[in-house]
Amino acid sequence: MRRKLAAGNWKMNGTAASLAEIRALAEARSAPACDILICPPATLLARMAEALGEAPIALGGQDCHAATSGAHTGDISAGMLRDAGASHVILGHSERRADHDETDAAVRAKAEAARATGLVAVICVGETEAERDAGRTLDVIGTQLQGSVPDGATAADTVIAYEPVWAIGTGRTPTLGQIAEVHDFLRARLADRFGAEADGMRLLYGGSVKPGNAAEIFAVSNVDGALVGGASLKAADFGPIISALE
Ligand code: PEP
Repeated sequence: MRRKLAAGNWKMNGTAASLAEIRALAEARSAPACDILICPPATLLARMAEALGEAPIALGGQDCHAATSGAHTGDISAGMLRDAGASHVILGHSERRADHDETDAAVRAKAEAARATGLVAVICVGETEAERDAGRTLDVIGTQLQGSVPDGATAADTVIAYEPVWAIGTGRTPTLGQIAEVHDFLRARLADRFGAEADGMRLLYGGSVKPGNAAEIFAVSNVDGALVGGASLKAADFGPIISALE
């Protein structure tokens, strides 16, 4: 049985004032029936870890470098994320793939660094609207999955997030049938590669998940939770999404 996961991606949002949101979330969720993960900007990680104390909310980075240290101005290593209180890291988000030309090979190298450091890698895959319109969705996702997930990945150290690029921040979502098709495909491809281990790997859906559509998305086959952007910033929005998963 896979434990569900509600993951929030704060992207480039949040300052010290936003710690009030995480405190409110922690107060309302003292014994959640699913895992909760917040990935704030790196500048907030350590303060958020301190604000959370023993609360059952995990923290993650939004990217890491493949190297452990060195001359990489502006970058952050997996070890630094751990040091700041993170247990997870989002890798290969479509915004990073687009803004920083991250290839599948680069994402895989980062995922290897994350695993070696003891961080859970939340690896994102997803098609653009043009790719979906051209009937290439499963091709694209299969290639990203194969190229981005390291050999030896396990259910304990790897989570896959299906995030159609055209659904992120747009208010649009695929049909439930389209989500099921992709998640069933991901499970089958992971099973081809990792055997029985794939049964335990959690598959998140991401892209315009809101309190109003969360329950129906979570009822779809092979959806083990969500990666949530905009609606994770406020406890008042993220709370009901978590409730829909519990
Ligand atoms: C995301 O950025 O991972 C995301 C899913 O964003 P949103 O929920 O805002 O569409």
